[in-house]
Amino acid sequence: APSDGDVLEVREVTKRFKGLVALDGVSLTVPAGQIRGVVGPNGSGKTTLFNVISGFYTPTQGSVRLRGRDVTGAAPYRLSHRGVARTFQNLRLFEDLSVRENLLVGLDRTPTTWIWRYPGLPWKVLGYERELRERAGELIERFGLAEVADAEPRSLPYGIQRRIELARAMAMRPGLLLLDEPAAGLNGEEVRRLGEIVRSIRDSGVTVVIIEHNMGLVMSLCEQVTVLSGGRVIADGPPAEVAVHPDVVAAYLGD
Ligand code: ADP
Repeated sequence: APSDGDVLEVREVTKRFKGLVALDGVSLTVPAGQIRGVVGPNGSGKTTLFNVISGFYTPTQGSVRLRGRDVTGAAPYRLSHRGVARTFQNLRLFEDLSVRENLLVGLDRTPTTWIWRYPGLPWKVLGYERELRERAGELIERFGLAEVADAEPRSLPYGIQRRIELARAMAMRPGLLLLDEPAAGLNGEEVRRLGEIVRSIRDSGVTVVIIEHNMGLVMSLCEQVTVLSGGRVIADGPPAEVAVHPDVVAAYLGD
């Protein structure tokens, strides 16, 4: 049952595209501090679910709550102000900016700072600029990007580009982080490192929902896994239980 400690509650969400039902009465509740996995065959509605949660799509029916507050249909920028950050299946980095500048762009959108209450005070603007640079520096350290901070992302290995994207999502200081297939294209060592980073993000107080095809990563990282098939939740529970659920086995064999 939903409780006060829930960060995200998706309630009976249906999303239709013309004739196609991408999500069909999907419900899930994510408690604070959890790493939740979302798995399912291709076309089962995983990315559509993220698009609904992050405001890119308005659900046809149903509701989305963040910390008990109804945010159904709120625009992506409003949700990002409410602490929802996400990464995308395909990298979306600014190719002509350095790694540091990519992080500064993410930081700049963070509306928490006091400066906006005192427009026109130049010394405060300078303080704000300094604060942003300090915070970018912290992210660079935390995500192990010091050696590549002044490089352009396209010149860097794919695994590092993925890490930059994660750092940029964290630049928003989110309370809820949505990761769409973060391990795609990574080698074994990079996947292991990703797992450590996601765990440390959670340990810093962020709730994480992760769409992932790498079952090894899902099993080792997630406390609870929601399985979608054909736009419905077919199983939801601890990874070891979900993995042997007959409907899940059938859905994957049919993929
Ligand atoms: P998954 O992420 O699990 O692979 P998706 O959420 O991307 O699945 O897609 C679920 C279904 O919704 C698919 O049949 C897909 O073609 C359809 N779909 C997703 N987005 C749109 C859209 N913008 N317009 C029409 N159909 C879409």
